[in-house]
Amino acid sequence: MTAPPGSHPLLQLAVPAVRAIAPYVPGKPVEELQRELGLTDIIKLASNENPLGPGPAARAAMHAAVDGVGLYPDGSGHQLKARLSAIHGVPTSGITLGNGSNDLLVLLAEAFLAPGRNAVYSQYCFAVYPLAVQATGAEARVAPARGPADAMPLGHDLAAFRPLVDADTRLVFVANPNNPTGTWLSAADLHAFIAGMPATTLVVLDEAYVEYARADGLPDGGAWLAEFPNLVIVRTLSKAYGLAGVRVGYALSHPAVADALDRIRQPFNVGVVALAGALAALDDQAHLAATVELNARERPRVRQALEALGLGVIPSAGNFLLVDIGRPARPVYDALLRAGVIVRPVGNYGLLQHLRITIGTAAENDRLIAALPAALQA
Ligand code: PMP
Repeated sequence: MTAPPGSHPLLQLAVPAVRAIAPYVPGKPVEELQRELGLTDIIKLASNENPLGPGPAARAAMHAAVDGVGLYPDGSGHQLKARLSAIHGVPTSGITLGNGSNDLLVLLAEAFLAPGRNAVYSQYCFAVYPLAVQATGAEARVAPARGPADAMPLGHDLAAFRPLVDADTRLVFVANPNNPTGTWLSAADLHAFIAGMPATTLVVLDEAYVEYARADGLPDGGAWLAEFPNLVIVRTLSKAYGLAGVRVGYALSHPAVADALDRIRQPFNVGVVALAGALAALDDQAHLAATVELNARERPRVRQALEALGLGVIPSAGNFLLVDIGRPARPVYDALLRAGVIVRPVGNYGLLQHLRITIGTAAENDRLIAALPAALQA
């Protein structure tokens, strides 16, 4: 008899912090649903990817880069950092590249956390923050989220963060806008919050969705780097730039923070194809604009369709909507799967009655909207 994996003696050999971790639950891959239900016509609105994918310039650059994959990448990421330096007006010494921004979140935790230290994040924050913190054995302090009737339901409550921060707090994670809620913080509130943090606490401002949020008038935290040496901006090419599958993200920080991250990152943590794709994608402003426009057009349309079905929709500055089904959401999720539409259950966030739905192309959104009435009967 094989013991269930959770109790296997080999798992018990792992360090206590790792044994206590609940694994990350990703959006269901299209291939998995194909295998499970034998469906062929499937759309995925589950992981906040860009429904257009990368633009033509990034595609061409990645195809061309395949010729060079026999050699290791430039581990210093020289060219991409030079481009990011020009874009953000920060020195290359303050830029760290990552295998997706997830890599940077983990590197920050590994570099700055340990037992006896703590990190603070919000109740309904991106699931990787708890994972990264817990793996280090540091204490995780969870700031209760805003209530369901707030203007930013389930969003970050910065006032609830402050009392949790002490001399041993090394990291505070803030996502603007936040995933899975889509809610956001104003520039004034965020600026005052960062200004109020002790110099011994790094504020990790995760701007994974900033390209969408900028269109909604949200702040660009990169502008505050010179003012706050303890500010770390985390960005990704996975969302609006359409490169989720190749894995590139970056952090902008004080060079001393970048120095710490550089000591522990894998020497070749961003691959040849990813570096080439990122460089081309950053320069394709037309594709970025088309992506942001599509989202600006489709998000209100999907929102209205959901509301017309009597569902509660949380305000979002991202490319996704968190939807209150008003009862356990799992049967609705399962019914949508049977219709070939993959959305994201968020029970792992403690949100058993919600589904998170990525904004797709107009045709994909039409398909979701058409499938929902029947799925809601499930
Ligand atoms: N931060 C936030 C807020 C996210 O939603 C995500 C992706 N779900 C990430 C970081 C990580 O994205 P990636 O590793 O693809 O850059």
